[in-house]
Amino acid sequence: MVFIDTHTHLYLNAFEKDRAEVMQRAIDSGVAAVFLPHVDSETTEAMLDLEREWPKHAFAMMGVHPCSITADYEKELAHARRWLERRTFAAIGEIGIDLYWDKTFFEQQKLAFRTQCSWALEYELPIVIHARDSTDVLIDLLREIGDPGLKGIFHCFTGTADQAEKIVDLGFKLGIGGVVTFKNGGLDKTLEHISLEDIVLETDAPYLTPTPYRGKRNESSYIPLIAEKVAIVKKVTIQEVADTTTRNAKAVFDQPFLK
Ligand SMILES: [Zn+2]
Repeated sequence: MVFIDTHTHLYLNAFEKDRAEVMQRAIDSGVAAVFLPHVDSETTEAMLDLEREWPKHAFAMMGVHPCSITADYEKELAHARRWLERRTFAAIGEIGIDLYWDKTFFEQQKLAFRTQCSWALEYELPIVIHARDSTDVLIDLLREIGDPGLKGIFHCFTGTADQAEKIVDLGFKLGIGGVVTFKNGGLDKTLEHISLEDIVLETDAPYLTPTPYRGKRNESSYIPLIAEKVAIVKKVTIQEVADTTTRNAKAVFDQPFLK
C-alpha cells in the first residue's frame, strides 16, 4: 500500500533527536512521500535541510503561515517571494487565515492570502490552506478571487458537510488527519457525506496525533491509522483508501517524480 502525507512538519525541533528514524518509519509504513508546509523565515533552513536529505521522499512548500502574518508581515512575504524566484516548490503553503489565536492582523492575513494566491497562479502551483475559525471567510475569499486555476487543499478540514461541499465545488481537496480518529470529534460523521475522491490524508505532525497515540508526538508513520478510520467510516477497504487518496494527492501536487 502506498500513502502520501500531504501535510507534515517533520523539520521542526520536536524531531531534532530522531528525525532520520522518523522518516524511515514513515517509508516503512508505506508513506512514499511527505509534503512539508513552510511556516516562516525561521523554519526555511530546517525544512530545506530535510528535503535535501530525503530528495525522493520529502518535498517542500513555500509560503507564509497566517500566524506569522504580524506587524512585519511584509518582510516575511518578501522572504517567501525571494525563494519562489530562486527554485521550484511543491506548493504555496501553508497560507490562510487563523482567527483562533489572534484577530489583530485579520486584514493583513487577508491581504497576504490574496497576494500568495496570485503567486500560485503565476507559478502554476497548488495552494495549501490553513483555516482556523475562518473556513467561511476563506470560501468567500476564494469565490471573490474566482480563478478556476486556483486549486489545492484545505488542510486539517474539520468543518461541516455544507462547507465541504462548497470547498469541493471550488476545486479543492479536503485534508483529513488525526481528528477523524478522535472520539466525539464529529469529523467521522461529516465524512460520511464526503466522497473519498475529494480527500487527501495528512498527519500535521507533530500535532493532532491520532488515536491510540493521542497526546503524544505525531509522526508521518501514523498515516495508516488515519486511513484505517477513513476506511471504516466510508465502508471500503484500507487499500481503496490508500489508492484513492494517493491518486488525489498526486493530482494536487503535479510532481514528475510521482508519476
Ligand atoms: Zn501545518
